[in-house]
Amino acid sequence: MGKASKDKRDIYYRKAKEEGWRARSAFKLLQIDQEFNIFHGVKRVVDLCAAPGSWSQVLSRNVYVPAKQSPDYKEGDLPLIVAIDLQPMAPIEGVIQVQGDITNARTAEVVIRHFDGCKADLVVCDGAPDVTGLHDMDEFVQSQLILAALTIVTHVLKVGGKFVAKIFRGKDTSLLYCQLKLFFSQVTFAKPKSSRNSSIEAFAVCENYSPPEGFKEEDLYHLLEKVGTPSGADDLDCRSGWLEGPNKVYIPFLACGDLSGYDSDRSYPLPSTEGGSYRSLDPVQPPIAPPYKTALEMKKASSHGASADTVRPSADS
Ligand code: SAM
Repeated sequence: MGKASKDKRDIYYRKAKEEGWRARSAFKLLQIDQEFNIFHGVKRVVDLCAAPGSWSQVLSRNVYVPAKQSPDYKEGDLPLIVAIDLQPMAPIEGVIQVQGDITNARTAEVVIRHFDGCKADLVVCDGAPDVTGLHDMDEFVQSQLILAALTIVTHVLKVGGKFVAKIFRGKDTSLLYCQLKLFFSQVTFAKPKSSRNSSIEAFAVCENYSPPEGFKEEDLYHLLEKVGTPSGADDLDCRSGWLEGPNKVYIPFLACGDLSGYDSDRSYPLPSTEGGSYRSLDPVQPPIAPPYKTALEMKKASSHGASADTVRPSADS
């Protein structure tokens, strides 16, 4: 697909470039905020799985920059935004970057250290594994990322705080809802307008962090396992048989984003430019070290006659 054709078929891709966002995902977070007001009063945020950085840009523009421009601005009192990803990211104003794996305990420790004993008001996670197309498998790997994110949440989020996480809708959606409900008084699954209908992704918007009384972070896995069994569910005040029949859990599911706004599944005509043909914009910030970089280098080398196995992976891939 040519760049102009992609601009026509994906309005959010085009708008992202026009508005200076690194990825179209920016609109998902903006539309979630329109519906749930998640940035209200936020001073400390963790952005998990943040590269190439469009959610961090949204956080910078909505949390950091307004505070810096406020007349009451004090140097030591600026919002703190910590972003983590396996991939490196180009710098963003007001965002501290940590390169690491969120499923690794050491990464969680680095994040916690940045907060220096204070707690975050908001944790967001747009993590996604490389999708295989095998839905059960993709859903499983995605759930491991949510679990890792929830582990970090239990260490850094303040009571009353919010957590937004990408989920893949599948057969375990009800289970995930029950697990999240253990920690948050309000959980809604949201589908922003900028997320295509054909995609199984949605976002869990969890409000008012309130872990069970006496909860110890090291018991997290044990607690979640219990929710997965009918007897454990009883203990945790979830009725047995909650996944089936009349006791089935009904998950609040909300479409978000202005209904008069753009539909991500539609093509839109390209804007006409005065006296000339339409010119597609370049991406705002190409990834610095994408995982496919080595493959591209190998392909390029082999097309120049060099043997592919003489090309070593670059140090940063
Ligand atoms: N929110 C980002 C934005 O707006 O630019 C897009 C995130 S992208 C959909 C998913 C990201 O998850 C990728 O950058 C990938 O490197 C990251 N990721 C996947 N597994 C991870 C892990 N275990 N630890 C850290 N990051 C991970």
